[in-house]
Amino acid sequence: MSMTDTPADFIHATLRAIGKARRDMSNYPPGVTGNEFAIAGPDYEKESDLPCGKCGGPTMELGYRHERWIACQCGWTTDAEEDEPDPDRAYDEARDRMMLDE
Ligand SMILES: [Zn+2]
Repeated sequence: MSMTDTPADFIHATLRAIGKARRDMSNYPPGVTGNEFAIAGPDYEKESDLPCGKCGGPTMELGYRHERWIACQCGWTTDAEEDEPDPDRAYDEARDRMMLDE
């Protein structure tokens, strides 16, 4: 095994592949066409502290646009908490309310 071929690298590569494979399922993020997700794959990823809910193994947090989810190499996924407020979404909602009040 070389220095670059670590188990962590293997896990990350596997989880990236799982992220791209989500295009074959019906539950890819709302508003995302399977086509663009297939080309780009997840546009956000970091190591997650959350253990897998199925096998207890290490997981990665993956994201696409405003969606975030946790993925394990065994194929388990769950929605990630959205801990950052989304100013664009709040603005859109406020504007929609104002338009409805007119
Ligand atoms: Zn797992």
